[in-house]
Amino acid sequence: MPAAQALSAPQKALLKLGLARDIDLALHLPYRYEDETRIVKLRDARDGDTVQVEGTITDNHVAYRPRRQLVVTIDDGTGACVLRFFSFYPSQQKALAVGNRILARGELKDSLYGRQMVHPVCKPAGGTLPQALTPVYPTVAALPQAYLRKAVLSGLARADLSETIPEPLSPQLGLQPAWTLREALEFLHHPGPDTSLATLEDHSHPAWQRLKAEELLAQQLSQLQSKRERDRLHAPALRARAAGLHERLLAALPFELTAAQRRVGEEIAADIARTVPMHRLLQGDVGSGKTVVAALAAAVAIDAGWQCALMAPTEILAEQHFRKLVGWLEPLLAPLGHGVAWLTGGQRKKERGAMLEALASGEAALVVGTHAVIQEQVQFRRLGLAIIDEQHRFGVAQRLALRSKVTATAVIPAKAGIQSDVPEALDSRLRGNDGKTGGNEEEMGRAAEVQRSLEPHLLMMTATPIPRTLAMSYYADLDVSTIDELPPGRTPVVTKVVADSRREEVVERIRAQLAQGRQVYWVCPLIEESEALDLRNATETHQELAAALPRVQVGLLHSRMPAGEKKAVMAQFAGGQMGVLVSTTVIEVGVDVPNASLMVIEHAERFGLSQLHQLRGRVGRGAAASACVLLYSPGENGRLGDTARARLKAMAETHDGFEIARRDLEIRGPGEFLGARQSGAPLLRFADLATDTRLLQAARRLAPAMLDRFPEHARRHAERWLGGKSEYLKA
Ligand code: ADP
Ligand code: MG
Repeated sequence: MPAAQALSAPQKALLKLGLARDIDLALHLPYRYEDETRIVKLRDARDGDTVQVEGTITDNHVAYRPRRQLVVTIDDGTGACVLRFFSFYPSQQKALAVGNRILARGELKDSLYGRQMVHPVCKPAGGTLPQALTPVYPTVAALPQAYLRKAVLSGLARADLSETIPEPLSPQLGLQPAWTLREALEFLHHPGPDTSLATLEDHSHPAWQRLKAEELLAQQLSQLQSKRERDRLHAPALRARAAGLHERLLAALPFELTAAQRRVGEEIAADIARTVPMHRLLQGDVGSGKTVVAALAAAVAIDAGWQCALMAPTEILAEQHFRKLVGWLEPLLAPLGHGVAWLTGGQRKKERGAMLEALASGEAALVVGTHAVIQEQVQFRRLGLAIIDEQHRFGVAQRLALRSKVTATAVIPAKAGIQSDVPEALDSRLRGNDGKTGGNEEEMGRAAEVQRSLEPHLLMMTATPIPRTLAMSYYADLDVSTIDELPPGRTPVVTKVVADSRREEVVERIRAQLAQGRQVYWVCPLIEESEALDLRNATETHQELAAALPRVQVGLLHSRMPAGEKKAVMAQFAGGQMGVLVSTTVIEVGVDVPNASLMVIEHAERFGLSQLHQLRGRVGRGAAASACVLLYSPGENGRLGDTARARLKAMAETHDGFEIARRDLEIRGPGEFLGARQSGAPLLRFADLATDTRLLQAARRLAPAMLDRFPEHARRHAERWLGGKSEYLKA
């Protein structure tokens, strides 16, 4: 492959989209089609149709009102139509000279000035029409459609499309009629003119069914393979003792666990008591109480003589967990001579050094922090349990690094006297002769090696929900626990969608909340193009609110503040001295201040649905009635876009995280999968977990048989679909 700097912009874009091999190109499928196979008479076309017409140009002039534009009229003998261009080159203007015969394709609209198409695609008439629908591929700005189309079609011509699913197993895919992979791909890249566009667009066509089945099978094979590899590894058995740390923590909690928390707690306890490393995803809506479940698991690990690490995606969240866990666990740990360590990127060298030492010596039984916890220099004495909170917020690369660091964590052999819960089979070998230290040297060497190969258990937590049954069949590599109930006494958050012009009323509301001793969040959006703008937005709002609320402490929090300042602001808000906290989205995940009862989100139209749901989840955590105000600013035309409107409506109508996730998919639609892919969401390009459950179940059943009986086919299949990306499929 040529060096990176030698690549053209479109070539770089291809690689960035993961389109490196011929097969990757062949599997890059159109998300819609344009019909250039026929010409429609203007007489037969209706308002809103996307059509191709052929006619003679009867007029061509540049108009200046309301802005400079090229206005061309064509006539096809059955009617006339205006073609309007707001940006155009002189060459274009010449190609559209009066008297020329052209093809124009675009959306026909009836307007005040008669029928028109804005920015139609034009070309000279007279060539032969294509025989197949024209595919339109998902792409990015740097990669023009025509370039991509050419690349895909040549990839398709070169790629090896031989079947990977062995003949005897293929009926189990459950496809009727069964298309081969080659047939399906050739068809989807060039469907004939009589194909129903509807079956292509909703992916119900047999060609799509075949591809979705293949994709799901690849995903199941890859996950099952990694599960089998993991099942061969060993982990320490962590069991709760009667009257141990776990029970004492439970007794000290100011609340009773919900039934759902107890159930998932038992699932985790059963896992970590085994000598196979746990690999479990704990999912539960925002506010469902995942942290305490994690703390209880940590207590079991510590009690068994092992260390525990808890990682969070942001420093604010890590800090909050730290305070919470110190509050819960330190009183119990201190008498045992253990402590809780804290690790982040922004830490002073000296403090960091002390923390590292405490972890290496084993004095720190628990460490809480950001991904700094998995940096090279961090050495644990005996890491038994790793917990990753809000794991979907870690980037793909960070997630992989976390995983491999956790796996690679060397365990320093235990000193005599420290309780050791090594798997029983290994235990006698570890202890050498009859459990006492001081066996022969060879024995000891082997023992150390065995212990070094122990993996910690892994618990991942997320608030991004997929329905439980679906999650259980999708994640072949993960066990899933779901908290499907909120702690009692929560009053639902009342959500109001309010135009920005009514800001004054919102400030009144804030006053009312403050008067009752409550606290308020005001969140400003992240403007991606400009961090500076972003900051100004938050700063201005902060000044505005501080002026409007002179007797109240109004704080400001944004991502570029020094860590210490952030910490101080958050502590004041959590402690209740600060009434209003203006912030950018740094508080989005996990922050827990139960006394806060009002959440104002400015420019709510700019946020994604799941992000809005996360933000709203910051209130309604205590018993007080809480509200969320979604402030929106309509665009220049005075209207909100359709997607923004749909998102705000969904927020006003439902609180259920599962329902929100479903609507999010619906609103985002198929065109956006590239975005999801880059953000590291589970990498399903074609299959839709919500509607393709039958295909998913078939793939789930087929995968073990294929791995057992046809391992070479399985390898080829996963390689074809995932190439080097199989890692990314892991949660
Ligand atoms: P999340 O699942 O979003 O991480 P948290 O763990 O932050 O939720 O819990 C939200 C709040 O609910 C916290 O203040 C926590 O102490 C409280 N909480 C957790 N479990 C219960 C329970 N069973 N009863 C009452 N409050 C609880
Ligand atoms: Mg949380």
